[in-house]
Amino acid sequence: MNPSISYCGLDCSGCTVHLLSKEENLSKKDLMISEIIRTCKEHYNVDFKLEDIKGYDGCKTANGNLFSGCSDCRIRNCAIQKELESCAYYEEYPCENLKEMFKIDPSAKERLEIIRSNFKTN
Ligand code: SF4
Ligand code: SF4
Repeated sequence: MNPSISYCGLDCSGCTVHLLSKEENLSKKDLMISEIIRTCKEHYNVDFKLEDIKGYDGCKTANGNLFSGCSDCRIRNCAIQKELESCAYYEEYPCENLKEMFKIDPSAKERLEIIRSNFKTN
């Protein structure tokens, strides 16, 4: 399975929080941080301050450089607790939390459906 595809189907390789860790241009970084703060407020109603945001590894990182938005994520913590590599493997897929995520980013659903179809055919 593609390691940058998170439990919920989002692609961490395209996530601004993750891309921030690779950006060297300071003014671009500031713009990205403002975008992260705006998006987290709009989609998750979470207020972050500038100092809360640095560069992070993806949602599935094992080394602990994790964005608090990820470490506090209900979907992530649920999948980890169920020892699932992806929500796609959950027998009662999709749960209400995941359906909410699909409304925010429908491409997450598309990715999990592909994982499920591959899982069923193997
Ligand atoms: S932290 Fe949660 S919402 Fe973010 S990518 Fe991971 S599972 Fe999805
Ligand atoms: S209940 Fe299943 S689909 Fe929902 S977040 Fe947990 S593991 Fe993912």
